[in-house]
This record gives sequence, C-alpha cells and structure tokens, in this order.
Amino acid sequence: MVPAQINSSPIDKWPFQLSRPVIIAGPCGVESEEQIFATAKALSKLNIQLLRGGIWKPRTRPDSFQGIGSEGLKWLKNAGLENNLPVTVEVANPKHVEEALNAKIDVLWIGARTTVNPFLVQEIADALRGVDIPVMVKNPINPELELWIGAFERLNRSGINQLMAIHRGFSTFSKSKYRNAPNWQIPIELKRRFPDLPLVCDPSHISGVRSLIPSLSQIALDLNYDGLMIESHINPYEAQSDKDQQLTPDALGELLANLVVRQSSVDDVMFLNLLDELRDRINSIDERILVLVAERMSVAREIGQYKKENNMTILQVERWNDILKTRSQSGEMKELSTDFVIKLCELIHEESIRHQTEIMNLKEADKAK
Ligand code: PEP
Ligand code: MN
Repeated sequence: MVPAQINSSPIDKWPFQLSRPVIIAGPCGVESEEQIFATAKALSKLNIQLLRGGIWKPRTRPDSFQGIGSEGLKWLKNAGLENNLPVTVEVANPKHVEEALNAKIDVLWIGARTTVNPFLVQEIADALRGVDIPVMVKNPINPELELWIGAFERLNRSGINQLMAIHRGFSTFSKSKYRNAPNWQIPIELKRRFPDLPLVCDPSHISGVRSLIPSLSQIALDLNYDGLMIESHINPYEAQSDKDQQLTPDALGELLANLVVRQSSVDDVMFLNLLDELRDRINSIDERILVLVAERMSVAREIGQYKKENNMTILQVERWNDILKTRSQSGEMKELSTDFVIKLCELIHEESIRHQTEIMNLKEADKAK
C-alpha cells in the first residue's frame, strides 16, 4: 500500500483564520432558536472561534432526541452571523451535506459513528467534490488509526484540503472513568505521521461528565494539540442530549481562563542544556531497560529448552498469575500504576512466549544450519 499522505492547509490559512489554541464550542444539539441564540451570545464573549451545534444527532436509541432537523440550520447560521462566529454542523450523509451547504454553514464535521463507515465517508466525499469548505473528522468509535486516516484521504481526493482531526475517544466495553477511552497513543501517532494536520481534542465526549473536562483539556494542550472542541449549552441541565457533559458558558469561561498554554519550543540556552542532560539520562536508562529485557529473553530461551526436554507446556497459568500479582504489588510501591505494570508484563510475556515457541519448535536439522 502507498504510504498515506494528507494534504491540509494550516489553520491560519482557513477562510476565517483560526489561531492556536482553536476553541470550538456550542451545544451538543441545536434545540430551539432561543437556545442557540442565547448560547451563541454568551459564547461570543469568550473568544471562541467556531460555534458548533448538532442538527441531526446520531443517537444510540431510537426514542432519544434525534436532533431538531433541517429547520435548525438557519437558526444556527443566524446565531453565528449575529455574533460574528463561523458555524459548524455534523453531516452523516449526502443529504445533510447538501442542506448544510445550502444553509451556508461554514465548516462541516464528520462524527465518530460515520468515520467508522467507509461507504458513508465516500458518499460524503463525493457530495463535496469541487466544494471549497473545511471539514473536521472525528476519530472512528473503534480504535483504528487507519480508518481515521482513510477518511482524510477520501476527502483529499475530492479536493478538500482544509482538514482537521478531532480526537473524541474510543468506545470500550470495559468500565472506565471515561465515557470513551482516550487512547492518547492513537492521536499522538496521527500527529507523528501527519504533523501538519491540525488536531483538536473533544474532552466532552471523552469524559462524558463535566468534572473531568478541565483536566482533559489541559492534558490535550500539554500534548501540543491545536485546540479544543467543548460542548456548551445555555442550560445544560435541561439539554436534550449529552446533558451530563455540557458546560454553561460561564463554566467554559472559567475553564478557558484557567488553561495553561505552553510553548512547544523555547530558545533559552540554559533550559535547552538542562533538557539535553535529562534526555541523555533517559536515553541511557532506555538502553539499560533494553539490555535487561534481552537478558530476560535469553533466560526465557533456556527455560524453553528445559521445558522441551521435559515435555512441558510453555504456559503455566499459576506462574503467570503469580507474575502479575507480584509485579503489580512491587510496581505499586514504586508509584507505577497497576494498569501500566500489567500491560508491561503482558508485553514482556508475549515476547518471552515467542522466544520459547521458537526454541520448542526448533528442529535438530534447523540447529545445524
Ligand atoms: C457530537 O459532537 O455531539 C457527537 C455526536 O459526537 P461524536 O461523533 O464524537 O459521538
Ligand atoms: Mn454530544
């Protein structure tokens, strides 16, 4: 497969010149003319750069509020015009695209439940051929980076070059403090591969609750994201969708005032020297870790040989349980999270099994080669 390439113009080249950190805010859904006007008016005092509002809501259950529908488009657009804010809506099919373009919506976004479906993304991309409009793409609900990248490629091929990625977390079956697991390594990998593609975080859909939004927002900025998309509603307690995760404009104002925006690079020589020293220490610690892991693998190979001679299976569940228990207890004393220690043990164990499997299945003839 050809390595992916995403063409995206920098945010300061967008039609309304965004600047870092880009703050996108607005209600989960447009519910009435009064609601979107009151919300937009309050938000316009907070230096937000783009007003969001869902018109068609992708809801899990059919009895939930499905969005106000097409009539809300003009309310959203007018609320934006009155407050000098460009506006954005979610589109999930070509009909949404057509209606949003007719209503002169400034930016479109593709939701997580749509990014997951290449047929729909292609239909949207086809409907946008020849249209000059910025498009933001949320990550797919499943943790698959390639699918996210595929959506940008499809849009690029239709001539859309003003693109932005929105990280909104990933569905999980397991219980966690978040509604959607952040899996930070996925957007970090996206940024590593496509450093010019603007990336914003949507802490509202990651957290699912108001209380976690400020800390997630700060993490995102500290990871050098270009901005945030945060749900804000004039009266979140009565919202018809996502009411636990929407902030009042006042609460959003407080969050923004408390955010620390750090620089991604500095030119203070003393600081850079110290940073280099610390990085050297990290480099040598990493090297020591690798030497130790390699040493551990050679012991695993000896064990493999021994098990082979005694016709014993590679895996003994009791031993594996014991490793998990003792290592997480020891990790806890060293202020390492149990989650991390278990993941690390699993990785090491997998590699160790690979070595032992190789030894076990080595034929005498192979050895001679
Ligand atoms: C939304 O932004 O309101 C929305 C439906 O988001 P997501 O696609 O991330 O679930
Ligand atoms: Mn929502």
